[in-house]
Amino acid sequence: MSALRRLLFSRRTLAYVSAGTLGVTGGGYWYLNSGPAYPVSTKEKRRPPPPWTPPSREQMLESLRRSSIDPDEEFDLLIVGGGATGAGVAVDAVSRGLKVALVEKDDFSAGTSSKSTKLVHGGVRYLQKAVFELDYEQYKLVREALHERRIFLQTAPYLSSMLPIMLPIYKYWQVPYYFAGCKMYDVLAGKENMETSYLMSKGKALETFPMLKSEGLVGAVVYYDGQHNDSRMNVALIMTAVKHGAIVANHCEVTELQKGSNDKLNGARVKDNLTGKEWNVRAKGIINATGPFSDTLLTLDNPDHKPIVQPSAGIHITLPNYYSPRTMGLLDPATSDGRVIFFLPWQGNTIAGTTDSPAPVETEPRAQEDDIRWVLDEVRHYLSPDIKVRRGDVLSAWSGLRPLVRNPSASSTEGLVRNHMIHVSESGLLTIAGGKWTTYRAMAQETVDEAVKVFGLENRVKSGCVTERLRLVGSDGWSRNMFIGLIQRFGLETEVAKHLSDNYGDRAWTVCSLAQPTGETWPLHGLRLSPNYPFIEAEVRYAVRHEYAQTAVDVIARRTRLAFLNAQAALSALPRVIEIMGEELHWSRAQRKRQFERAVEFLGSMGLAPGATVPELEPRNMLERLENVFWSLLKSGGAVTKKPGVTYSRAKFEAGEIDSLKELFARHAVPTSPRDHQAPPEVGAEERRLRKQHVREVLRALPGYEAIRAKDYDYVFDEAGFADREDIDLDEFVEICGSLKEVSFAPLSRKVAKVERTRIPVEKSGGGV
Ligand SMILES: Cc1cc2nc3c(=O)[nH]c(=O)nc-3n(C[C@H](O)[C@H](O)[C@H](O)COP(=O)(O)OP(=O)(O)OC[C@H]3O[C@@H](n4cnc5c(N)ncnc54)[C@H](O)[C@@H]3O)c2cc1C
Repeated sequence: MSALRRLLFSRRTLAYVSAGTLGVTGGGYWYLNSGPAYPVSTKEKRRPPPPWTPPSREQMLESLRRSSIDPDEEFDLLIVGGGATGAGVAVDAVSRGLKVALVEKDDFSAGTSSKSTKLVHGGVRYLQKAVFELDYEQYKLVREALHERRIFLQTAPYLSSMLPIMLPIYKYWQVPYYFAGCKMYDVLAGKENMETSYLMSKGKALETFPMLKSEGLVGAVVYYDGQHNDSRMNVALIMTAVKHGAIVANHCEVTELQKGSNDKLNGARVKDNLTGKEWNVRAKGIINATGPFSDTLLTLDNPDHKPIVQPSAGIHITLPNYYSPRTMGLLDPATSDGRVIFFLPWQGNTIAGTTDSPAPVETEPRAQEDDIRWVLDEVRHYLSPDIKVRRGDVLSAWSGLRPLVRNPSASSTEGLVRNHMIHVSESGLLTIAGGKWTTYRAMAQETVDEAVKVFGLENRVKSGCVTERLRLVGSDGWSRNMFIGLIQRFGLETEVAKHLSDNYGDRAWTVCSLAQPTGETWPLHGLRLSPNYPFIEAEVRYAVRHEYAQTAVDVIARRTRLAFLNAQAALSALPRVIEIMGEELHWSRAQRKRQFERAVEFLGSMGLAPGATVPELEPRNMLERLENVFWSLLKSGGAVTKKPGVTYSRAKFEAGEIDSLKELFARHAVPTSPRDHQAPPEVGAEERRLRKQHVREVLRALPGYEAIRAKDYDYVFDEAGFADREDIDLDEFVEICGSLKEVSFAPLSRKVAKVERTRIPVEKSGGGV
């Protein structure tokens, strides 16, 4: 007994117990305090922040022009490119006290920066690579990205949030493997972790993600990463730079670089792509942040320059929200051909996609039909068989170009850089390229540090880098409950108020102040641009007055995200968007028409079916109404034709088309039972069946079906689950015809050599999942 007491109260036991208690208390404290730090809510956040109206675009252009006339107006830095990289550099440089100009040839974030996967992440698969290949460099990159992930969520809390992502597991041996990998991800994030990853039983996984295929499912691991609205984040960066005094201009392109007598760059020629006007801009240093277009600017600087960018395309499709739960994503790190596939809830819908196929540099790359079908096939693989994954469910499809780069200073045998690259040419052109959205801030910090040294700006800066703490426009007065204040003050629908709060932060008060009354008892304000999406008309006015939107595409694609969520809905909203922008920007009829045509062309690159019914611009006055009548009479040769019924339904059957299909079916189908073969023709179509092998032959006679390829028939039968069928009934025939129309209206694949899917190595894919 005394020996036991001695043992219990020995110093060693006490030391163990104390250490254990400390460990448990510390661990508990750490666990309870883990997760993202949300901004503190205060009573002040119930009210709008002080109003702020940025300088107009005209004032910005004037400042750019003055720099070449008045030496005192010379800029310290001219940044070329208004994507994530350029905008990040502008915020960093201007907040250090430098005089900064930024020009963007299209719209802010019109390039890759609006077409990303929208993840703010360290990259679980990069970590896998680091561990398996004992690659310390890769490990450091993941660590850095996880650090940046935390800053991202703190400096723009309203635009980014954490997202649980599920890795479904179909083999028992994968359980410890995936679980250990995710735990390592948590540990690597350390105190910057969001929430810790956890294992889920099969039942729990199916409860959370009911669309998941249950057959063979063993369980799942859930880990956390961040998600954001990329183009709105880009615009917030630009507006933050403006608030600190930067001069910015979208739709302004650098067409020439200018050198002084010492052969060093001292300015550029800039062209306003909206008016065609050109002028010079003077700056002590020029930064090339043109992403996939880096080589174009490097060639303007030195025509003998050897290309350093190897673009890699990643496609995404938007599916209706019934494809994923609203608050959890899914990731498969090893698909049938080695690519990564994911589907993530985003802005009320589901985005699915993959990354990495080599591609040419182009301004508006298009998602290829083969890639879209590949993504659908992989999605189908994960979903329960009772969910029909249809081509027609693709609401929008887009492709983004990742600027993978070679370092020109490295030996020629060296391949692509892993992350980003900063290179200073002999002329002083400072190029920053590569990297990922998540690390835009760290890249900007490094770039401005280098620029200060290279361009001798030490006396011009007022401080070191402050962007770790600099909150973006819209953040200060925002809290997670701000949307309630918006509902109470403006009488908005909850969905609309939440959308405005999550995309504009405290600037949502200004957006709402531009909203027109609905004239209804509820909601009082907030006329929608499209019935199923929370974007409102006031956003269009706000985009023009406060965010430099200049074209209809700027609004439907990057200020609101309608074009990314649903290309057809964006098309339908277009006349109203153009009408409002026309009022704000005083567009003539010809300008409105041009905007309309250009936007329809753009929507073509977002997966809009070529056969889509295009709505008409509403005439504004009597003269325009008469003009419309005149042109329609001319087109119809005098006969006033009534427009056919609206043909927006996904299965694009025209009026009367179903009747023709029924008739065709009745003519070629045979009665169900063999003994009825001699049955009289009055045997109803419902009791007849058409042999599958005859369907193509039969349909070829029908206008619209002549050119559909055998490959498409196979795809559609497969998609419908009829691959092994001998024959189909009337209902199935009509279903097949609907799917054929969807597929045949899809943008055709470009005639390119077979796409090589997995050439870009994981660690060099720079962003994406
Ligand atoms: C498919 C895909 C998915 C991705 N997903 C993620 C992700 O989930 N998370 C993540 O962190 N990263 C992701 N990334 C990476 C990230 O999107 C990019 O690293 C980032 O957007 C690159 O920004 P950028 O500014 O360098 O290029 P861009 O956004 O392309 O900007 C360059 C700009 O320069 C302009 N420009 C070109 N020439 C001129 C000129 N002469 N004058 C003026 N302007 C000019 C262009 O118009 C363009 O707007 C993804 C990338 C891709 C392709």
